[in-house]
Formats: sequence, structure tokens, C-alpha cells
Amino acid sequence: MSDAAKRIVILGPPGAGKGTQALSICETYGIPHISTGVILREAISNGTELGNKAQSFMDKGELVPDQLVIDLIRERLSRPDCVKGFLLDGFPRTVEQAKALTALLDEMSIPLTHVVELQVPEDVLMDRIKKRGEEGSGRSDDSAEVAANRLQVYWKQTAPVTKYYKEGGVVISLDGLGTVDEVAARIAEALGE
Ligand code: AMP
Repeated sequence: MSDAAKRIVILGPPGAGKGTQALSICETYGIPHISTGVILREAISNGTELGNKAQSFMDKGELVPDQLVIDLIRERLSRPDCVKGFLLDGFPRTVEQAKALTALLDEMSIPLTHVVELQVPEDVLMDRIKKRGEEGSGRSDDSAEVAANRLQVYWKQTAPVTKYYKEGGVVISLDGLGTVDEVAARIAEALGE
């Protein structure tokens, strides 16, 4: 395995632009984009057991049970494409998940190399999520009401994840405002070669 492999977690509230930036980072470094949200939406559209278990939580903007996503991440990280690194987007979303990830990566001897946090003020987040709903993102959880709930869930259950990583090491906190390219340039500078 290359020493330069990047194993990244991207953190930030819904609407911070994580998904967009994640794709650009993954293209730059040639690493797989692992989004639990994408995997769960696929599972729902394929009508799998995982999808059936997750749907009612997702429709309300609530988190699916930790064990479901921890199991799916364990399986995904064991696939061969993760040897060159990976980027996790939308996971971990609770301190419980973060601890499980630390244990899993320890077990696999592949610690995280970067934790990146995108910071965006709350009023901008609401605007962005609402716009996504109006433009028909195709996501059933982008209505104003559900978006508001997702933000609340974020502050309550997911913001502590950033604290968890800050206590354990370095978190790269970046300004998520600006054009997609501006934010991408900030991230690229912080991640380096
Ligand atoms: P996302 O696409 O990351 O915004 O995720 C969409 C929805 O999927 C979330 O609102 C949750 O219902 C569910 N979800 C995605 N990732 C997780 C996770 N790590 N833990 C719990 N629920 C998740």
C-alpha cells in the first residue's frame, strides 16, 4: 500500500457542500467516494432489506440506526479499491459511529490521514437545502420541514463527532462559503500532494 494513501473523513452540516466537494477530492486523488447516504438511497431504490430498514428514518430526516451503517461501512472498507485510500462522506454521523470507525480502522491498520470540516452558517444552509428541494434534487428528504429536522439532528447528534475528532487529533476546519471551485482549492491546499 502506498504511504501517500489518503483516508479522509469529510464533516459538515447538511447543505455544506460535502457531497460536491467529496466528488472533486476523490477525482483528484483517485480514491473511492463512500457516501452512506448514496448507498442507502440505492438500497431503497433496489428494494433491498437494508433499504426497507432505512427508509422510514430517512423520510423523516432522522438517522438510521448506528449498527446498520457501521455494518455497511465495514463491508465497504473491506473491498479492494479502498487499499488506495477512501473518502467517507456522511459517515460517521454519531460519536458511536466514530468510535466504531476508529476501532475498525485500527483493526485494519489503516488510520485516517485527514479529517476535514466544512463550516457554513446556518441561514445559508437552510437556503441551500430549500433550493435543492425546489430544483427537484430527486431526494425525498429535501422538503423544508424535513430539511429543518435534518439540521436539528445534525446539531444534536453529529456536531459532537467533530469534537470527538478534535480531541483525538487534528481537524482541518475550512470555510465552506464561496464557489465550488474556491472551496475545492481550499481543500486541495489543505490536503496537499
Ligand atoms: P445524506 O445523503 O448523507 O445527507 O444522508 C441522507 C439520509 O441518510 C440521512 O438524513 C439519514 O437518514 C441517512 N444516513 C446517511 N448516512 C447516515 C449515517 N452515517 N448514520 C445514520 N443515518 C445516515
